Amino acid sequence: MLFLEPRLTLIARPEFTEPSHLPVEWLGEASGGERLAEFAGRLCYMSQRNPARRSTQDYLENIKRQGHGSVLEHANYSILLEGVSRSLTHELVRHRAGFAYSQLSQRYVDESEAHFVVPPAIIGDEALEAAWKRQIDEAQRAYVETVDRLMERYGWIADKVHRRKMAREAARSLLPNATETKIVVTGNSRAWRTMLELRAGEGAELEIRRCAVALIRLLQKEAPAFFSDFEIYDAEDRREAAKVRFHKV
Ligand SMILES: Cc1cc2nc3c(=O)[nH]c(=O)nc-3n(C[C@H](O)[C@H](O)[C@H](O)COP(=O)(O)OP(=O)(O)OC[C@H]3O[C@@H](n4cnc5c(N)ncnc54)[C@H](O)[C@@H]3O)c2cc1C
Repeated sequence: MLFLEPRLTLIARPEFTEPSHLPVEWLGEASGGERLAEFAGRLCYMSQRNPARRSTQDYLENIKRQGHGSVLEHANYSILLEGVSRSLTHELVRHRAGFAYSQLSQRYVDESEAHFVVPPAIIGDEALEAAWKRQIDEAQRAYVETVDRLMERYGWIADKVHRRKMAREAARSLLPNATETKIVVTGNSRAWRTMLELRAGEGAELEIRRCAVALIRLLQKEAPAFFSDFEIYDAEDRREAAKVRFHKV
C-alpha cells in the first residue's frame, strides 16, 4: 500500500477538573485543555474573578501576545501519526522540549509487507512514480530475502524471538526512508506550536510540511485558543504552508 497523505488521530486530550474552592468566572466556550491553561494562568495573579471580563479565547490570545508561553505547557495532546515515512519521523523527533515519542520498532516488527509513503514531489508524475515504485519493490524484495537468509544463518540460536530480531535489525538497513511508520506523539501546546512553526514553514521538507499543516487543522479544531493564530496559505511553490502571528517564545 502506498500512502499519499498522513493519517492523524487525536488519541488524548486534557480533562480539566476545577477545584471547587477556586472557581473561575469563565466566559465563552472552551475545551478542557484551554480551561486548564486559563486556570493555571489566573492562579499566578489570583484573578479567578475575571476582572477584565475576558473569554477563554481572549485570555489565551493575550497570553500568546505577551509571550507567556509557559502557561500553554499545561495542556498536552497525544496524536497517532500513521502513513508517515521514516524520514519524516527522523526529523520530527529532533523536537525535544515538551514532547514524548513511541514509534514502531523495525527490530521487532516484520516489514515484509511494509507500506510506503510517496514523496509529495513525485505524486502526479506517472513516469517518476513508476520508477520510484520499482526501486521500492526491489528494496522490499531484498529485505525479505535477507531476513530469510539471516534466520538460516543463525539457526543455532534457540530463542526464535532473538533470532528474528537479529535478522530484522540487519535487514532493515535495506529499507528506504520512504517506509511507512507509526508514531504516537505527545506534546504540550507550547511544544506543538514551536514544532508547527518550524515544520509548516516554506523552508521545511515537503512531507513534514504537509503533515504539519494537517496537524494545525486538527489542533485548531480541538483547541482554537492555542492554535488559531496559525494561518495556512498557498505558497509560491503551489503547496500549503503556514505562518504564525505570535512567534515562538
Ligand atoms: C527547515 C529545517 C531544516 C533543518 N535542517 C537540519 C539539518 O540539516 N541538520 C540537522 O541536524 N538538523 C536540521 N534541522 C533540525 C533543527 O536543527 C532542530 O534540531 C529542530 O528544528 C528542533 O528544533 P529545536 O532544537 O529548537 O526544538 P526543541 O528540541 O523542541 O527545542 C525547543 C526549544 O527549547 C530550547 N531548548 C531545547 N533543548 C535545549 C537545550 N538542550 N539547551 C538549550 N535550549 C534548549 C530551545 O529554545 C529550543 O528552540 C532542521 C530543521 C528545520 C525546521
